[in-house]
This record gives sequence, structure tokens and C-alpha cells, in this order.
Amino acid sequence: MAGQQDFDNNVKPNWCPGCGDYAVLNSLRRAVANVGIEPHNLAVVSGIGCSGRFSGYMYAYGFHSIHGRSLPVAQGIKLANRDLTVVACGGDGDGYAIGIGHTIHAIRRNLDITYIVMDNHIYGLTKGQTSPRSDLGFKTKTSPTGSIETPVSVIAMALAAGATFVAQGYSRDLDELTALIEQGIQHNGFSLINIFSPCVTFNKVNTYEWFSDQLIGVKSIEGYDSGSRAIAMENIIAHDGLLTGLLYQDKSKASYQDLLHGYDKKPLSHTDLK
Ligand code: SF4
Ligand code: MG
Repeated sequence: MAGQQDFDNNVKPNWCPGCGDYAVLNSLRRAVANVGIEPHNLAVVSGIGCSGRFSGYMYAYGFHSIHGRSLPVAQGIKLANRDLTVVACGGDGDGYAIGIGHTIHAIRRNLDITYIVMDNHIYGLTKGQTSPRSDLGFKTKTSPTGSIETPVSVIAMALAAGATFVAQGYSRDLDELTALIEQGIQHNGFSLINIFSPCVTFNKVNTYEWFSDQLIGVKSIEGYDSGSRAIAMENIIAHDGLLTGLLYQDKSKASYQDLLHGYDKKPLSHTDLK
């Protein structure tokens, strides 16, 4: 059985020291090992951004796709080879700006893949511009007097789009993050895991200290029920999206591949195309 070190391809990440993405990478390696996946059964697809380097840092099948398009590629891989565990990775700029249409449709389609979004509220790779997750008043080169756009309420959006698995993690809590990724991978359907992953170089507002001060775990909320969409929606609005943990899971809904005629037969191979 593969251990987490078996998913390390010995390529040294070139992220800035302290970037939250290191913790996400370690958590993903731990999670896939913990659930018994072998490197040859895992495909990691990424978009563009600092998080886009993810597919190059895992010992597994990797596909570094284009901006906002990791989900179409990931879904195509899963449809072509049902035996692969498919994980798509990206950032808030990648998935909630140019890629938001794909995100919404992947959520409602409910194909069995896991989408990990490193949400640092900024564009990091391009050196610090306001993203769709930046808070009102956030100052960058593209909003020098402060952002006047309402940030995307990504969890409320996912719940409204019919998500069957929604979680939020934090780069400072590797154990919880690892557990959430494990649950997401084991969920039969589309799983969205939004991760507060600080950009230590360009975002001097939403820092580790800021997130540690703001985030609340759903386990500490009395009466929270991750099986209730209404409770998840009510709390995510009440806490301005700043909740961590398993926010919502619906185990009863059939996944896309459960409903797709013929998907349970053998996967397409090049010999079928002759
Ligand atoms: Fe991480 Fe920000 Fe550096 Fe990119 S620019 S590697 S997001 S700290
Ligand atoms: Mg970002």
C-alpha cells in the first residue's frame, strides 16, 4: 500500500516560503495514501495560478491545463477511465472568476471528482490583483482605492447549485484538511473543498493571524447538521462564509456516472475507436 511519500515526485515546489499551498499539498498526499489509492490510480489536474503547479508536484498522472479549465479536463478524464480517482486543483481566481461557469455546472452535474480550491482572496501568480473572493475595500494594484465589488459567496453558490459535498479547510489545520480531502474523495459525486490558504507575499490583510481569528469550526456550532442544506445555508450566511469543516453532504443523490448509460461497462480504450 502506498504511503504519502510515494506521492512525492521529488520536485521542489517554488512557492514562497510560508505559502498556504504547501500544507494543501501535504494534506492531499496524506489523504490519498490514507484512503488506499495507488499513484497509478490517481490523476491530478490543475488550472493556472500558483495552485496550478500542483499537478507537477504529485507522483501520479498529472495534467496542467489552462486558466479556469481544470474541471472540463478532470471530468473528461473521469468519464474516459472510471478506475481513476480524479482530483482537480486551482485557486479562487482560476475557479471563481474565469472558471466559475465550469464550477457551477460541475457542481450540478455531480460527477465523482474532487475539486480543491486554494482560496487566498487574491491573484498571487500575477503579483497581487483583486480576485472575485477579495473583500469589499480590499486594496491592490487593480483596486487602489479599495474593491467596490461584492465577493463571490462560494459556499452559498455551491449549495444553491445543488452541491452534494461542500467543505472548507484551512492551511493551518492539516489534520482537519486531510480528513476533509479523504471524505471528499470517498464521496460518490462532486466534492468541493474550499481551502483558506494564505498568500503570504501579496495579501497582507487575509493572513494566517486574520484567518485564525475569523474562522469558526462547524463542530463548535450547537445543532449544526451537515446533512441539512438549509442549516448549512443559514450558517454560511450568518458567518459571512468563514466556517470550516464538513458544511454539507448529501449521500442519497445519485452521481452522474451512476445515471450515465453504459458507464458501468468497461472503460473506452483505443481499440474501441478503430
Ligand atoms: Fe503562495 Fe502567494 Fe507566493 Fe503564490 S505568490 S506562491 S500564492 S505566497
Ligand atoms: Mg488566488
